[in-house]
Amino acid sequence: TTLANHLPTAELQALDAAHHLHPFTKGDELNEKGARVITGAKGVWLRDSEGTEILDGMAGLWCVNIGYGREELAEVAARQMKELPYYNTFFQTTHVPALMLAKKLAELAPGDLNHVFFANGGSDANDTNIRLVRTYWAEKGQPERDVIISRWNAYHGSTIGGTSLGGMKGMHGQGSLPIPGIEFIDQPHWWAEGGDMTPEEFGLERARQLEEKIKEVGPEKVAAFIGEPIQGAGGVVVPPSTYWPEIQRICKKYDILLIADEVICGFGRTGNWFGSQTLGIEPDIMTVAKGLSSGYAPIGASIISDKVAKVLDGTEFNHGYTYSGHPVACAVALENLRILEEDGVIKHVQNVAAPHLKEKWEALADHPLVGEAKIVGMMASIALTPDKATRAEFATDAGTVGYICRERCFANNVIMRHVGDRMIISPPLTITPEEIDILIERARKSLDECL
Ligand code: PLP
Repeated sequence: TTLANHLPTAELQALDAAHHLHPFTKGDELNEKGARVITGAKGVWLRDSEGTEILDGMAGLWCVNIGYGREELAEVAARQMKELPYYNTFFQTTHVPALMLAKKLAELAPGDLNHVFFANGGSDANDTNIRLVRTYWAEKGQPERDVIISRWNAYHGSTIGGTSLGGMKGMHGQGSLPIPGIEFIDQPHWWAEGGDMTPEEFGLERARQLEEKIKEVGPEKVAAFIGEPIQGAGGVVVPPSTYWPEIQRICKKYDILLIADEVICGFGRTGNWFGSQTLGIEPDIMTVAKGLSSGYAPIGASIISDKVAKVLDGTEFNHGYTYSGHPVACAVALENLRILEEDGVIKHVQNVAAPHLKEKWEALADHPLVGEAKIVGMMASIALTPDKATRAEFATDAGTVGYICRERCFANNVIMRHVGDRMIISPPLTITPEEIDILIERARKSLDECL
């Protein structure tokens, strides 16, 4: 018996409301209705304390890439806990899980991304990146190069550094952020902001804002540009095809480091190991987390190019977390990568799941409420609109239609998320065609209930 089985749902919910503050939730929001208590999961299916099965269209928070309930990971974790539950890598020691995972990531990552600095998740890996790129330029004798350019509506985490790099104004408002030295350009969100331009024209226009910003700040002051290959939490904003090549060109022209935040896009989500490969980006640094361990253990990392890592030779990088390269998390991540690779999960995405999901997802565009339906690999969005021709938005004062749709999905036992009037999904990569059909059927039913 588990703890959850000891208490009735209402009691669990009351305890939760009394003592547990939830991230990104109003303090009293769950007092009346109570949080849904999740007690178990297998594959793509969550189970709540009432025994209801829920199809998880978000893979937790975009992270459970191999699906729930893989015994291999539990066994590896238990074995590692018995053998060496913890040791640090600070003071001239290492251990096998950390070094083997670093080696594996260097093999998988494109180009000369051959060096790994471990963190506990994506936010603090991005904190590492802020200090790393500024240290890089300082060590190269250009300490004034400390500005990092990011994008409005980007999400790079919830620490002080991650929130600062992110472009979510609501988050900046709490805690007097961003920290100094972060600049923003607009996102390549054609549906919402493209006006009369074609997506290709718009992609170029938005990428060229980077060059304008570099000139405004002064090229000698810019350290790096950071972007998610596909913006995730911002609403699965798939950039026009012209966008990343132009960003890449500008970074090269001004010798600016490019950080690809692969926290969502990594580990098969876009159909390749990394979103940078799908979108044709050649980053100097990649941020990874989430799918690195499929969420089974907290772990993140910065994967760093030879060029950047070399600058730290002879320099002590005064940075690190107690749990950088935690042996249990590393062992779990290694086993997760083995499953993604050897058990054919990435192949399943490429050959089965992504083509099937694409066909079914794009067909949602015929629904009266749906404007564009966008999908890359296993991350997808639909824009809800009262007028497909003008790409109008719903009024937001009476609660967005997206919010209502999300609630309907919840009631229909499928987890989808909403960002304003965009509905988004990111299911486990192991989802079968039959489960995709159930997901789409429930999504359509929920949309119908919003009419
Ligand atoms: N970067 C991106 C692109 C993310 O989507 C997230 C989380 O959603 C983060 C960073 C932060 O990662 P974490 O929540 O593991 O700190």
